[in-house]
Amino acid sequence: MSLTIGVDIGGTKVLGGIVGPDGMVLAQARRPTPAHDPAGTLVMICDVISELLAIHTVDAIGIGAAGWIDAARSKIMFAPNLAWRDEPLRDHIAGRFNLPVVVENDANVAAWAEFRFGAAREASDSMVLYTVGTGIGSGIVLGGELVRGAFGVAAELGHVRVVPDGQLCGCGRRGCLEQYASGSALVRYARATAKEAPDKAERLLALAKGLPQAITGPMVTAAGKQGDPAAIAAFEQIGYWLGNSMADVVQVLDPQLIVIGGGVIEAGDLLLAPAEASYRDALEVRGRLPVADVRAAQMGNLAGVVGAADLARR
Ligand SMILES: [Zn+2]
Repeated sequence: MSLTIGVDIGGTKVLGGIVGPDGMVLAQARRPTPAHDPAGTLVMICDVISELLAIHTVDAIGIGAAGWIDAARSKIMFAPNLAWRDEPLRDHIAGRFNLPVVVENDANVAAWAEFRFGAAREASDSMVLYTVGTGIGSGIVLGGELVRGAFGVAAELGHVRVVPDGQLCGCGRRGCLEQYASGSALVRYARATAKEAPDKAERLLALAKGLPQAITGPMVTAAGKQGDPAAIAAFEQIGYWLGNSMADVVQVLDPQLIVIGGGVIEAGDLLLAPAEASYRDALEVRGRLPVADVRAAQMGNLAGVVGAADLARR
């Protein structure tokens, strides 16, 4: 059986796994990410790979990381959370372990995992993944292949502008989807309601010990599940923006499936239901034309490891 290693470099941990051709993870290893120390992060990645190689021999290594990856899939040009600038990660790891290595954007890797083994596994041709977390990542599969673009930076749906001259985004532009439909936006909406209409946010404020500024994403999810009106309204707001974006994507790509992943989808229907309602609403004028179904992601925390390992196999 051909085995490969997948490594998922997150802001807090480096998670690696040995993965079979069926997407099963046979062994795992992890280390903390020293996020502000690029050299130290490289040491942790090599430690994770060494630990796994001591268990099984493998054919190749795939690495997923947040950031912009060049079109040759060798360099991390810019990683917002990892202090990497033009890091030649592929050649470094390939030289160290004498194995083929691919480096890919984390959302692309997650999309690949969902397409091959997760929520979109019965899609034969195309799917779009949104990862809704602190920011919004996305990955697009068309014709059975990831869409990378001419310069390696395609499929940044989180940075498509939805409000001209809107909220300033971390990418430097204004009005990006990420500012309206991410976990950060969810918290911003919930805090605003808790401040302006505390009677609608009783559960939320109880969790935050009465301080609107202390409200976090998990608190909004917990309060929403208990029926807190402010928390539910915050999910409806991000769902509205997400659904609109999904409808725009359908107009451009007409994919087989749309999958929503990332930490915020742990809220389940609190996010899925308003996102899908807004999506169907925006496409209603299309009448009886079939459109992509919307599903929650299934690969969870292992999406990065499994997706990277499978891309390395190809
Ligand atoms: Zn942006």
